[in-house]
Amino acid sequence: MPFSQDQASSGMLPEERQPRRLPALRALLGIVWAAPLTLVGLLLALPVLLGRGQLRVVRAATPALLVSGRVADYLLERHPFGAMCAMAIGHIIIADFRSLTPQILTHELEHVRQGAVWGGLFPFAYCGASLWAVLHGKDAYWNNRFEIAARRAERHA
Ligand SMILES: [Zn+2]
Repeated sequence: MPFSQDQASSGMLPEERQPRRLPALRALLGIVWAAPLTLVGLLLALPVLLGRGQLRVVRAATPALLVSGRVADYLLERHPFGAMCAMAIGHIIIADFRSLTPQILTHELEHVRQGAVWGGLFPFAYCGASLWAVLHGKDAYWNNRFEIAARRAERHA
């Protein structure tokens, strides 16, 4: 079942909606710009899907494909940076669906949005933000500006 965050939270009737052409164009450009990241995400999602995983469409301002299943749970539990509930790579979110909350999904969708803005440069920008935090005596993860933005986005879930 697809998620529909923008529809669920807008509270607007269909006739009150703004013209959707610009947001759709922005989403399309983001998908194209982030395609190198999404390709990596698809390669990681492939074993999940082959292991009888599930694919869901997340309909949001920045859309994504949500992949979950036993292989996803296995990979997330053994993530090199520590056990995780979910991770976003381009427009692909790999998640442990049982523990996926609206807050976690919103957090990951913020990373999808960041990927759509930065494109293939996002991993470098993310690592640069971690390095910047460490050079200022702060934590590479908690004080990473992209993680701070994602935690801020969670508050609107
Ligand atoms: Zn994050």
